[in-house]
Amino acid sequence: MTDTPPPSLRDRIAASLRTAAYDCDGCDLTERECDDQHPIQAAVLHHDVITSVYGDIDAIAAAVLAVVQPEIDRLRADLAAVRDRTLTEAAEVLRQATVPAHQTDGLDAAADILDAARDTTS
Ligand SMILES: [Zn+2]
Repeated sequence: MTDTPPPSLRDRIAASLRTAAYDCDGCDLTERECDDQHPIQAAVLHHDVITSVYGDIDAIAAAVLAVVQPEIDRLRADLAAVRDRTLTEAAEVLRQATVPAHQTDGLDAAADILDAARDTTS
């Protein structure tokens, strides 16, 4: 049994563009009307696979962004979680290094530093 690796980001972007592309084989609309209704059009097919598209830049950007934005959001969330863990650990180290255990009541400079660090990195 072999595991198939997940498709690369590049492959997912290419698939998104192929899905977004409209392959008009002659409709009742004018070319302009058809382009307006289908802002990404198939330009070249090879063995029934769209290999080239033409279209509106905003529509192409939206098709690419639909794939890339969730990836960016996931990475941002991962980064924020790692940052939070690191800052929390650093704050705890600072707290233990600078405040004797019997003097911790009401003193939470480490938490203030952690909050300040979160504010500057988020
Ligand atoms: Zn058409």
